[in-house]
Amino acid sequence: MNTENPTLPGLHHVTAISADAQSNINFYCGVLGLRLVKLTVNFDDPASYHLYYGDELGRPGTLLTFFAWPGAARGRVGPPQVTATAFSVPANAMDFWLNRLTQRGIETESDGVRFGQRVLSFLDPDGMRVEIIGEDQPADSTAAPWPAGPIRVTYAIRGLHSVTISQRKEESTIELLKTVMGYELQDKAENRSRFLAGSNDHGPGVIIDLLQVPDLRHGTLGAGVVHHVAFRTPDNAQQAAWHQTISRLGLKVSPVMDRCYFHSIYYREPGGVLFEIATSNPGFTADQPAAELGRKLMLPPWLEPQRSEIEHAVPPIELPLTA
Ligand code: ZN
Repeated sequence: MNTENPTLPGLHHVTAISADAQSNINFYCGVLGLRLVKLTVNFDDPASYHLYYGDELGRPGTLLTFFAWPGAARGRVGPPQVTATAFSVPANAMDFWLNRLTQRGIETESDGVRFGQRVLSFLDPDGMRVEIIGEDQPADSTAAPWPAGPIRVTYAIRGLHSVTISQRKEESTIELLKTVMGYELQDKAENRSRFLAGSNDHGPGVIIDLLQVPDLRHGTLGAGVVHHVAFRTPDNAQQAAWHQTISRLGLKVSPVMDRCYFHSIYYREPGGVLFEIATSNPGFTADQPAAELGRKLMLPPWLEPQRSEIEHAVPPIELPLTA
């Protein structure tokens, strides 16, 4: 544990907004083959679901989560936002994924190459931009896709590859990433700059792409839009050190919030995107055994007394079939 030089080994999760929990589950579990690792409610708004998708155990760096706000109006994608969330698959699985998406009527906007890696780009049911990127050498040897999911493990999504953050002016975000958060510029092509997490951890989600889009309209929050992006830090002590470091910059940082499966602090980076730093522990087996993850609505202890009201408030959903 090093609280003098705390690390951010990569992403922890991305959280976005969906207008319909059921179509969201059908897409991320049924089409993309992620595991629903936790079905819970938004702790700050317990009448709506919070859905967590990830690998077999929902390891930090494999997680995409949604606040499901029934009937929420679509947001507008635009700076300053995370405008694409990319997952990593083996390079030899890209044809499989192109076929799988095409067969399901999901249009892939580009089948291009970005920094030497093939990219499939498409929209989820709320219009959110999702990408699948093929990597020759899995950076992450500990990848553990869910073996009981619908995709063969050798082709399955291994975790987050990267996020793309769009900014009209990117300088202050670059400054924060490089001089404070330990990221290094790895590559640049046209208006896209690729940053790599500075730590030696080779887990998932070590890349941030910054896209400079000076002429695009500002985005607005709503369905199909990313709400925030979270970076992982190993433990509470390092998170406390980050809290101090970020506060000293003059940025407003939230107190530590207990999210049951991790602890979180939030701050808005100078470019306007909401960042979170989340601890890697305790993880999703904190309140359910691994085999039971995602199979029923879980509530934090302080909401358990309101379970019956909450169960009536959230829409009924059908959970994905498990093998
Ligand atoms: Zn979060």
